[in-house]
Amino acid sequence: MDPIVRDALEVLLVVAVGGILWSAVWRVRRGEVTVARCAACGRTSSRAYEACPHCGASMPNR
Ligand SMILES: [Zn+2]
Repeated sequence: MDPIVRDALEVLLVVAVGGILWSAVWRVRRGEVTVARCAACGRTSSRAYEACPHCGASMPNR
């Protein structure tokens, strides 16, 4: 394979993986991903849980 083509594919792969990671980070930072913080112990949890998995306190429903 032409080394220039191989380099181009490598750059494309890095850009694609980086873009996916970056968009995931931004979604978490903008609050689009449901990450909730437990009011009792302050640790991050998910709204999918009815109770905090760390301390067992009930999670507020939105
Ligand atoms: Zn908790």
